Amino acid sequence: MRVEKFGGSSLADSERIKNISSIILNSSKKEKIAVILSAMKGVTDSLIRAAQIAEEGNSEYTEDIENIREKHLKAVRSLFAPKNQTTVITHLQLMFNELEDILHGVELVRECSKRTMDLVMSFGERMSCTLVTEYLNTRGCSAKFIDARNYIKTDNRYGSAVVDFAKSYALIKNIGSLKAVPIITGFIASTENGITTTLGRNGSDYTASIFGAALEAECIEIWTDVDGVMSADPRFVRNAFVIPELSYQEAMELSYFGAEVLHPYTMIPAIEKGIPIRIKNSLNPSNPGTLILNKLISHPYPITGIASIDSIALLNIEGGGMIGIPGIAARIFHALAKEAVNIMMISQASSEHSICLVFHETESKAVVNSLHRELALELETKRVENFELKKDLVMIAIIGENMRGTPGISGKLFSALGREEINVFAIAQGSSERNISFIISKKDEKHALGTIHRAFLENGTDSETTGN
Ligand code: ADP
Ligand code: ASP
Ligand code: MG
Repeated sequence: MRVEKFGGSSLADSERIKNISSIILNSSKKEKIAVILSAMKGVTDSLIRAAQIAEEGNSEYTEDIENIREKHLKAVRSLFAPKNQTTVITHLQLMFNELEDILHGVELVRECSKRTMDLVMSFGERMSCTLVTEYLNTRGCSAKFIDARNYIKTDNRYGSAVVDFAKSYALIKNIGSLKAVPIITGFIASTENGITTTLGRNGSDYTASIFGAALEAECIEIWTDVDGVMSADPRFVRNAFVIPELSYQEAMELSYFGAEVLHPYTMIPAIEKGIPIRIKNSLNPSNPGTLILNKLISHPYPITGIASIDSIALLNIEGGGMIGIPGIAARIFHALAKEAVNIMMISQASSEHSICLVFHETESKAVVNSLHRELALELETKRVENFELKKDLVMIAIIGENMRGTPGISGKLFSALGREEINVFAIAQGSSERNISFIISKKDEKHALGTIHRAFLENGTDSETTGN
């Protein structure tokens, strides 16, 4: 059994759908496969936008719905002979009717909870899978639409639900006996009561590895629009190259720090069952791509890759009154945990004079408000000076197993940035020594990525960052 997942980039239009259907047909002739699909490219974003517009009481959300409808119908017209179009159009139309009813409700009540947003987003994968299942059947491949909401069970943390592996694996095992090729909706799941949830943006990769682990697949393949996991985001660094092999840990760090080619959770079920993950390009199927496995890989360079996360904010808490007073850090983290803020990086100098917290920009208000409440007394008595909030930042991380115990990496990193006059606001190195992360201005992102790539990954060649 092999699991093959195709992302939105591989489902952009009818040409891409034809292309991945040929890949599915070929593999299904050779061995048993299970297929996971994302929504067509851009559809999840459009669904979110439609719900946000509807929430404002504005009926213009229908424009986004019409665009999504046209995208699917255009693909139907080009993929199906006229006599075969009716069934698939009827299935899609029923879904559009339901979606319109939900969004009309959102418009009327002017409220779109996270729970409703998950339901709205679920239509993307349900529509793409309906379309591709019908199309494969017309091409002589017996395929069956599978709604993952009946197989992946989660809690009710809408937007990024937590999977109940035991329940999900037991349900998924039933799919193993299907004769037809299952075409499974990525990204979506449901609670025990059947309420729709999602696994977080980009979550179809995770769906693939949940199914892979439950079905004890030999390999989980993630098909996308680049040749594999690259040494840096190819949109920023022209000389980025494909990394042929990666350890699970390295892949997890790279994806956690922003390499969106893979959802970071994808590795969790795969590690548990020791299943290798292969990243492949649906436009270049003969390329071997990247293999991710449970092995320490020796790489030719001192680091394995670079990744970055945008829209980062930093809060500096300073004050002479914090020195030597136990419990301040604990109170800060407790207050932020109560607000469910995700702190991405912390740094504290040994003088204890300042604590620096890094989080996503969207959390700024929650962070500042909760700390104002928690530290009200310290602020009043000036033991803590006011907080300094910086926005428009990015977090960059250099990652690699080979960094462990190698002296001089951070020296080289920060002198390369210094030479280019790139200002660094905060630095952290995990004790695993597999990564060094730091914060810089958004305006320096591309320059910094190019500089680091040249310093560590190009044998001294003179590369340039990409021009766009
Ligand atoms: P899909 O639609 O197949 O899920 P994504 O857009 O989620 O594809 O992920 C693929 C994209 O990830 C690539 O087109 C590339 O621009 C981006 N990317 C960012 N960092 C990396 C990296 N280190 N290696 C490869 N791709 C990367
Ligand atoms: N369609 C979802 C998203 O855009 C899930 C995925 O593509 O992996 O986030
Ligand atoms: Mg993706």
